[in-house]
Amino acid sequence: MKTLLVAEYREGKLQGSVNDLMAFAQKVGSDAAMFLVGSETDLPKFQGPLYLADVKNCGEYNPDVHKQLLLDTIAKVKPDMVVFSHSSYGWDLAPRLAFALKASQVSEVVDVVDGVPVAPVCNSKLRRKVASKTPVAILTLQAGAFGLSEESTGVPVIEKISTTATGKVEFCGYEQAEMGGVDLTKASVIVSAGRGIGKPENIAIIASLAKALKGEYGASRPVVDAEWAEHNRQVGTTGQTVSPKLYVACGISGAIQHLAGMKKSEFVVAINTDKDAPIGEVADVLVVADLKQFVPILTEKIKAL
Ligand SMILES: Cc1cc2nc3c(=O)[nH]c(=O)nc-3n(C[C@H](O)[C@H](O)[C@H](O)COP(=O)(O)OP(=O)(O)OC[C@H]3O[C@@H](n4cnc5c(N)ncnc54)[C@H](O)[C@@H]3O)c2cc1C
Repeated sequence: MKTLLVAEYREGKLQGSVNDLMAFAQKVGSDAAMFLVGSETDLPKFQGPLYLADVKNCGEYNPDVHKQLLLDTIAKVKPDMVVFSHSSYGWDLAPRLAFALKASQVSEVVDVVDGVPVAPVCNSKLRRKVASKTPVAILTLQAGAFGLSEESTGVPVIEKISTTATGKVEFCGYEQAEMGGVDLTKASVIVSAGRGIGKPENIAIIASLAKALKGEYGASRPVVDAEWAEHNRQVGTTGQTVSPKLYVACGISGAIQHLAGMKKSEFVVAINTDKDAPIGEVADVLVVADLKQFVPILTEKIKAL
């Protein structure tokens, strides 16, 4: 099997998601080539052919130009799978490419079983295996779903590519989202609220424990979507990536998108009524309890210390 891994370059830097792509290629045991619109000054540690277009000529993001470069590269490499990260770059460019190639697309792949991509459905409650019926399949990978077994040390063999294609849109630049309020990335203790808190009033229980531990409170996406907590408190792929000394997950199931944002925490405590909740797989301590009963008692004990 052949894969073409589409690496990303943003604001003058190669993105770390390139490791997920390499881990994916490793997992499927493919013969991998890489595509990058970037610079020779910041190259991936990739052992294999790298089709490199100069970011100065092609722009960090220009969908028409990048799509044409990819089509030209695909004609040379003839991959079975073209693999993107499920990032703003990937979710914009992958469908354009799939349409141009009349190829199937599988989005947010979290695993591969017997060579077949697996993607979540029903808010990650279920997983489905999706086999492509077209000669080339376009995939986007969920952040953090694939991890390299060891750090790559390879040096790519560069083949420079270019195109005369022009774009219909002009990329104007990036704008930092307004942060305001709390910055979870600096907190050494985070107590996070999940859907298991049941109602918005129960945020107070989580906030009290966070305060007793001299930390901040965070939240999973459903809690933020329901407007029970502000977006800058969301932990996960579409929120903050945090690495506190202590992370306490209260009523959080442990969906891959949440884990991607907190798995670098030094010590993880999970409080959940379900002893089989996936959060248990990353937790150092799993307390099987109703958070509404357990958390206030724990908070009082900590305050009394
Ligand atoms: C593109 C995309 C991006 C996403 N980005 C993010 C992201 O950045 N962050 C994120 O968090 N999610 C994200 N998600 C959503 C993610 O897939 C999950 O749906 C979400 O993380 C689930 O949140 P949860 O664990 O709070 O809720 P649930 O999955 O509903 O889990 C609730 C948990 O609470 C437990 N529980 C219930 N009652 C109690 C109680 N009384 N006491 C203790 N435990 C109890 C249950 O057993 C269950 O395990 C994203 C999804 C997509 C598709």
